[in-house]
Amino acid sequence: MEDCLFCTIVAGDIPCYKVYEDEKTLAFLDINPINKGHTLVIPKVHVSRISEFEDEDLVGFYRALQKVTGAVERAVRLDGLNLFVNQGKDAGQLIPHFHCHITPRLKGDGLKMEIPSLKLSEDEFVDTMVKIKMALTD
Ligand code: AMP
Ligand code: ZN
Repeated sequence: MEDCLFCTIVAGDIPCYKVYEDEKTLAFLDINPINKGHTLVIPKVHVSRISEFEDEDLVGFYRALQKVTGAVERAVRLDGLNLFVNQGKDAGQLIPHFHCHITPRLKGDGLKMEIPSLKLSEDEFVDTMVKIKMALTD
């Protein structure tokens, strides 16, 4: 897709610190790393949301994610890691090309991913559960 930074990286028109590539997937270091080894895994095809993947691209993507995550675990010092995807501008997605962050974590690194929890009533839980279950059959 034109005007997409990550498509430009896939095309080889902008350099990156490539760590892995296969037919469908590319992985490279994030240039603003949270910790050493912070890696982005992206599909070569331009999709912005998980629901836009073709089946075989999705399978290939998550296989590659597992492979690269294992390599990061072996290659850098870490005590844990966060795997996350920001989907949509309001969720913090700056680059509208789907990507998963692999972020090594160190004990005491001070990074806080605090998620406040919402108090929901029994009715609200049930209503939400039913809505999602119904949507799964669409
Ligand atoms: P997100 O907020 O989930 O869209 O994350 C986008 C990530 O892409 C950020 O962590 C940026 O540091 C990273 N990024 C932006 N440009 C580049 C680039 N040219 N090479 C590698 N990572 C990049
Ligand atoms: Zn793209």
